[in-house]
Amino acid sequence: MINIVLFGPPGSGKGTQAQNLIEKFNLKQISTGDLFRYNMKNGTELGKLAKSYIDKGELVPDQVTTDMLIDEVKKPTDTSGFIFDGYPRTANQTEALEKIVKEILNGEISVCLSLIVNDEILVERLLKRGETSGRTDDSNEEIIRARIKEYYTKTAEVAELYKQQGKYVEVNGVGGIDEISEKLFAEVEKIK
Ligand code: AMP
Repeated sequence: MINIVLFGPPGSGKGTQAQNLIEKFNLKQISTGDLFRYNMKNGTELGKLAKSYIDKGELVPDQVTTDMLIDEVKKPTDTSGFIFDGYPRTANQTEALEKIVKEILNGEISVCLSLIVNDEILVERLLKRGETSGRTDDSNEEIIRARIKEYYTKTAEVAELYKQQGKYVEVNGVGGIDEISEKLFAEVEKIK
């Protein structure tokens, strides 16, 4: 079983690379951001609660997020493992994930893959995406820079915990899509 925590700031190509990893290694992606958006779209109680935080740009409380993740991990799947995308974001969630993977999946986190792209390239990519995506948060350079900063502040303590476990691997996220995928694949092959 392979369980990957995928890290990457907005614009790092995380979505594209997650898709390639899923296909290559037969994994299931769990994105807490996507799960919240699904719940908000469907007007569930969880969605309403999450919206009150997400609209302010704040993190949803750990317990709510972790309970939602547990429900998702418990769903039957015939994949060979998971990609956790957007979770963990705090030290508390990092510990919770370790327990979840151990107790529910009888496994462990194999690796934390972190896509590295410098800020200027991220800003350039996001502004370009904003021209066609219609996402207002991709159209304003100030907001983009704030999101990038927020990402680094939030994930620093999580990265530190995986570093201590010798599971943190940085991969250069600048270059061709396939070239970057190959580098990620090679890292996963090492821990298979
Ligand atoms: P994302 O699509 O991963 O950027 O997530 C969108 C928003 O959902 C975040 O800004 C948070 O408000 C919330 N969210 C997603 N994942 C988490 C998490 N692991 N912990 C707390 N809040 C989260």
